[in-house]
Amino acid sequence: MLTGLSVEEKNHVKVWSGISQKARGQLVTISLNQRFCKGCEICVEICPNKCLEMENSYPVVKDINLCSKCMLCELECPDFALTVG
Ligand code: SF4
Ligand code: SF4
Repeated sequence: MLTGLSVEEKNHVKVWSGISQKARGQLVTISLNQRFCKGCEICVEICPNKCLEMENSYPVVKDINLCSKCMLCELECPDFALTVG
Protein backbone atom coordinates (compact mmCIF):
# COMPACT_ATOMS: atom_id res chain seq x y z
CA MET A 1 0.00 0.00 0.00
CA LEU A 2 1.27 3.48 -0.87
CA THR A 3 1.49 5.85 2.06
CA GLY A 4 3.28 8.78 0.35
CA LEU A 5 1.36 11.95 1.01
CA SER A 6 1.14 12.84 -2.65
CA VAL A 7 1.60 10.84 -5.84
CA GLU A 8 1.43 12.38 -9.30
CA GLU A 9 1.99 10.83 -12.71
CA LYS A 10 2.53 12.74 -15.94
CA ASN A 11 4.27 11.79 -19.18
CA HIS A 12 5.69 8.57 -17.69
CA VAL A 13 7.17 10.43 -14.72
CA LYS A 14 5.80 9.47 -11.31
CA VAL A 15 6.43 11.79 -8.37
CA TRP A 16 5.95 11.04 -4.68
CA SER A 17 6.29 13.81 -2.14
CA GLY A 18 5.70 14.25 1.53
CA ILE A 19 7.23 15.12 4.85
CA SER A 20 9.56 12.45 6.21
CA GLN A 21 10.31 12.01 9.88
CA LYS A 22 13.39 10.00 8.89
CA ALA A 23 14.64 13.11 7.06
CA ARG A 24 14.13 15.23 10.18
CA GLY A 25 10.78 16.55 9.04
CA GLN A 26 11.97 17.75 5.63
CA LEU A 27 9.90 17.60 2.46
CA VAL A 28 11.08 14.68 0.31
CA THR A 29 10.34 14.37 -3.39
CA ILE A 30 11.17 11.19 -5.27
CA SER A 31 10.70 11.12 -9.06
CA LEU A 32 10.81 8.07 -11.30
CA ASN A 33 11.07 8.39 -15.07
CA GLN A 34 9.50 5.14 -16.24
CA ARG A 35 10.95 5.58 -19.75
CA PHE A 36 14.46 5.16 -18.34
CA CYS A 37 13.74 2.50 -15.69
CA LYS A 38 14.47 -1.09 -16.70
CA GLY A 39 13.13 -2.62 -13.49
CA CYS A 40 16.46 -3.97 -12.25
CA GLU A 41 15.44 -3.52 -8.57
CA ILE A 42 18.84 -2.12 -7.56
CA CYS A 43 17.17 0.88 -5.94
CA VAL A 44 14.82 -1.33 -3.93
CA GLU A 45 17.67 -3.54 -2.74
CA ILE A 46 20.00 -0.67 -1.85
CA CYS A 47 17.59 1.54 0.09
CA PRO A 48 18.74 1.26 3.72
CA ASN A 49 15.29 2.19 5.01
CA LYS A 50 13.18 -0.21 2.91
CA CYS A 51 11.32 2.77 1.51
CA LEU A 52 10.80 1.32 -1.98
CA GLU A 53 9.16 -1.80 -3.40
CA MET A 54 8.50 -3.19 -6.87
CA GLU A 55 5.03 -2.96 -8.38
CA ASN A 56 4.25 -3.96 -11.97
CA SER A 57 8.00 -4.03 -12.80
CA TYR A 58 8.67 -0.51 -11.50
CA PRO A 59 9.81 0.74 -8.10
CA VAL A 60 7.23 2.60 -6.04
CA VAL A 61 7.56 4.47 -2.77
CA LYS A 62 5.78 2.44 -0.14
CA ASP A 63 6.32 4.90 2.70
CA ILE A 64 7.95 8.28 2.10
CA ASN A 65 8.12 8.79 5.87
CA LEU A 66 10.94 6.21 5.88
CA CYS A 67 13.12 8.11 3.39
CA SER A 68 16.21 9.70 4.94
CA LYS A 69 17.21 11.49 1.69
CA CYS A 70 20.44 9.49 1.65
CA MET A 71 20.41 9.66 -2.19
CA LEU A 72 21.70 6.09 -2.58
CA CYS A 73 18.87 5.08 -4.91
CA GLU A 74 19.54 8.05 -7.19
CA LEU A 75 23.29 7.51 -7.17
CA GLU A 76 23.14 3.76 -7.81
CA CYS A 77 20.43 3.69 -10.48
CA PRO A 78 22.32 2.71 -13.64
CA ASP A 79 19.76 4.43 -15.87
CA PHE A 80 19.37 7.81 -14.12
CA ALA A 81 15.69 7.06 -13.68
CA LEU A 82 15.35 8.19 -10.06
CA THR A 83 15.72 11.68 -8.63
CA VAL A 84 15.53 12.55 -4.93
CA GLY A 85 15.06 16.12 -3.85
S1 SF4 B 1 17.69 1.15 -10.08
FE1 SF4 B 1 16.87 2.51 -11.66
S2 SF4 B 1 16.51 1.20 -13.42
FE2 SF4 B 1 16.72 -0.14 -11.64
S3 SF4 B 1 14.58 -0.43 -10.89
FE3 SF4 B 1 15.46 1.30 -9.78
S4 SF4 B 1 14.83 3.13 -10.95
FE4 SF4 B 1 14.58 1.34 -12.28
S1 SF4 C 1 16.96 8.50 -0.79
FE1 SF4 C 1 17.79 6.80 0.46
S2 SF4 C 1 16.19 6.39 1.97
FE2 SF4 C 1 15.25 7.60 0.34
S3 SF4 C 1 14.35 6.07 -1.05
FE3 SF4 C 1 16.42 6.58 -1.80
S4 SF4 C 1 17.78 5.03 -0.90
FE4 SF4 C 1 15.85 5.01 0.24
